[in-house]
Amino acid sequence: MLEVELADRQTVQYIVRRFNLRLKHHLGQNFLIRPDVVRAIAEAAELSEGTPVMEIGPGIGTLTQALARTGAEVTAFEIDGSLERVLSHTLEPYGNVRIIYEDVLKADLPAILGDREWHAAANLPYYITTPILLHLIQSQLPISLFVFMMQKEVADRILAEPGSKAYGALTIAVQYYCTVEKVIDIPPSAFIPRPAVTSTVLKMRRRTESAVAVQDEKAFFQMVKMGFGQRRKVFSNAMKTGGIAPELGEKILAAAGIDGRRRGETFSMEEYARLADAWCALR
Ligand code: SAM
Repeated sequence: MLEVELADRQTVQYIVRRFNLRLKHHLGQNFLIRPDVVRAIAEAAELSEGTPVMEIGPGIGTLTQALARTGAEVTAFEIDGSLERVLSHTLEPYGNVRIIYEDVLKADLPAILGDREWHAAANLPYYITTPILLHLIQSQLPISLFVFMMQKEVADRILAEPGSKAYGALTIAVQYYCTVEKVIDIPPSAFIPRPAVTSTVLKMRRRTESAVAVQDEKAFFQMVKMGFGQRRKVFSNAMKTGGIAPELGEKILAAAGIDGRRRGETFSMEEYARLADAWCALR
């Protein structure tokens, strides 16, 4: 296939007809049809000649093309093997693209990525956004920058401030490891087929050190889980439900200087860190 703009309504419609594709809703197959959007994602991904970049879900190659045009070395993971007959045509002009037909959650990423520093870019499949995001961010994989499109509602949760409705365990899970910035909101009209919701592209840069210093990450995330497990409960009760005896709970709160009548959803990341460190010191 000649080098045509793939992220374009007519082109995507033509490819769907030409290959007689049945788009798989259960795999989140919504393809981008706006060249400015794929370019914005590629630009946010800070790619240049030879940068190793992984993509999740190339689909028919719309975003992959924009990534490849920067000269970056693209490795894309696509779960749907039936797209191979499409991608071998649409991405034919690009010698710097390799597609691995595997579920990104099951792929042996440490072996595939090796020890070079990677960037990641994707229009994520929405049915599995959070598991993919957490899998990549919480792992020790050498990925320093993530530029991901997701449902706006999920992006809002990641960007949320303490005390807001959207603030939760996901906010802390991502912000603990990464700085986060919004790149752009995208309307449903930018895709074929149209999703039901607005989308957002976030740029997440892995921190060299976690956002807060904690003695024990496991204890920190357990505290966070207690705080958001039952949002309506005051934190002293949430700790009880989480298996911390009331006397110990009182000591932890006192040592951390936190009022147990507050709800966990009002605590900043620093306050969770103080609680976790007090717990470690007292148990
Ligand atoms: N990148 C294309 C675009 O922007 O037009 C397609 C994005 S589409 C929202 C998501 C893609 O992810 C689909 O091609 C789907 O088959 C693929 N996908 C879904 N689950 C996956 C998984 N677990 N691992 C790898 N790819 C997956």
